[in-house]
Amino acid sequence: MPKIFQSRRINQTYWHWFLLIAMTALLAKLVYLTGGTARAFPHLLYIPIFLGAYYFRLTGALMIAVLSGILVGPWMPVSVATGEMQATFTWLWRMVMYVTLGSVNSVLLLNVQRMRAAEIKSSYRDMFTGYPNQDRLAQDLKHLAQEGREFCLLGFRIKNIHEINRYTGYDIGIASIKEAASLLEEATGGTVYSLFLNDFVAVLKTGPEEAYAACMKYLERLKAPLLIDRYKLEIFVQSAIVHYPYDTKDPSQLIKVLCIALGQQSETRQGPVLFHAELERNDRDNYELMVALYNAISSNELFLVYQPKQDLRTGQMVGVEALTRWRHPTRGMIAPDIFIKLAEEIGLIHDITRWVVQTALKQNKLWQEQGMHVTIGINISYKDLSDKETLQFLKENLGGKKGEEARIEIELTERSLIDNAFEISAALDELKRSGVSIHLDDFGTGYNSLSNLVNLPIDCLKIDKMFMPGIGEHVSDAIIHALIRFCHKTQKRIIAEGVETKEQWEALKAMGVDYVQGYYYSKPLPPCDIKAFYDAQRLCIEKPEDELALV
Ligand code: C2E
Ligand code: CA
Ligand code: CA
Repeated sequence: MPKIFQSRRINQTYWHWFLLIAMTALLAKLVYLTGGTARAFPHLLYIPIFLGAYYFRLTGALMIAVLSGILVGPWMPVSVATGEMQATFTWLWRMVMYVTLGSVNSVLLLNVQRMRAAEIKSSYRDMFTGYPNQDRLAQDLKHLAQEGREFCLLGFRIKNIHEINRYTGYDIGIASIKEAASLLEEATGGTVYSLFLNDFVAVLKTGPEEAYAACMKYLERLKAPLLIDRYKLEIFVQSAIVHYPYDTKDPSQLIKVLCIALGQQSETRQGPVLFHAELERNDRDNYELMVALYNAISSNELFLVYQPKQDLRTGQMVGVEALTRWRHPTRGMIAPDIFIKLAEEIGLIHDITRWVVQTALKQNKLWQEQGMHVTIGINISYKDLSDKETLQFLKENLGGKKGEEARIEIELTERSLIDNAFEISAALDELKRSGVSIHLDDFGTGYNSLSNLVNLPIDCLKIDKMFMPGIGEHVSDAIIHALIRFCHKTQKRIIAEGVETKEQWEALKAMGVDYVQGYYYSKPLPPCDIKAFYDAQRLCIEKPEDELALV
């Protein structure tokens, strides 16, 4: 305890003793002034005795009881007026009563205090893990800050806790959190706290370098699986370090700052995130954007643009890709890379996907009525495929008879297959069975081998735009040739995206790519311009390819 608190406490103790003794003496004087012990006033002395028990437990009760017994004892007359003194038995009996009631009272108070302490202790413990909880952490951080020393918070969040719970049950999930927390205690020697169930924190009274080393040691330990019951569990954690007083001088903000830093760790990052003020700003910005995104659909702030795809054999426009745009009322256009990622994080992606499907269906109907028959590719998120309702919605709207008429294809990025290949390929099978055409987008960015793709129900492979600048160089050309051969052998079509120059376009055509998409053929266009583009293409169809590509 800090010195300042200790000396305040000592002063308070003296002050209480002084008041109790003074009160006892005054009440004894009152007994005398009111004519002696014959009146009921000796009972008033129970007040300082009980207060003595309250402040100093048994010692206080006994000392004040004996003092009271003596003060209203042998020298206190029964009647001051007549000078009649008390019998020894009378004042002794009174003293025994004072001592007995004072002691009983102090024992009762002690029990109440113990019960209260146990209650407080349990309210500072996490219900599931038994580790000190967030309230305890907040208090301890306040005290540490009052000591005026530097310290670090090491935060960890178990990323795969939902999977562990789902596949092994909640009791194993909780046991794995406990085990991870106890390993943290072992690895760092710091005090460990539970925070919101799957987060836990160690407080180390060190600088950031030592904290970083301790964190890396712990992460190293976690590479070995945990043995819980009959399970061998691998746990994956996000980690962050917050340093007091450099990251925030306000101890009440430390937990919030740690959570912000924990929330910032990217999927691929290995080491801990070190907090810096920029993170807090990002977090606030993201929060505001998130609130705005919730309203974006109902406020008609989203719209679709369409980028034409060209068939290299016929030179015709065969389809378009629908790309979502968000015009924020004050910030202007927000890039899809930002809001789609945010929508995936907050679970709004399914609403966006539904909106895209419905908008594309309406648009297609309109175009068909105008005599324009093209496919529309829509981008879906891997999260859509793990959501039963969205999957059902996609099957109902894009599969079967309805889908046949609409000819809407889905594009799913190759990266989606990295983590959830099994679940995703099962969902893709379902979609395929209902008649939906599936394109594997951004191919080449997810490091899937071609052999992995043989069993996937894919109709078309979309070569990522990163390969385009390298066209004409030996390695890129060899990869594209291999992809073309693979696709044509396995009855898949192949499309190249991000085609920006005439040279790329010609090279791809010569290699045998089926379709192209990119700024060279057309940028994404608003729906009203697509029909004009389509008509112009058809008029040019008889013209030489050079001219056609330049339209
Ligand atoms: P993507 O599916 O790979 O879409 C193609 C992106 O490349 C688009 O960016 C397009 O404008 C851009 N692009 C087209 N031609 C060229 C070119 O010749 N050169 C270059 N450098 N870029 C070209 P955009 O519209 O910014 O979309 C970015 C990503 O956002 C899309 O990548 C897609 O993954 C995602 N996205 C867009 N709309 C949706 C949506 O409704 N749902 C989902 N889940 N994702 C979407
Ligand atoms: Ca796409
Ligand atoms: Ca793409």
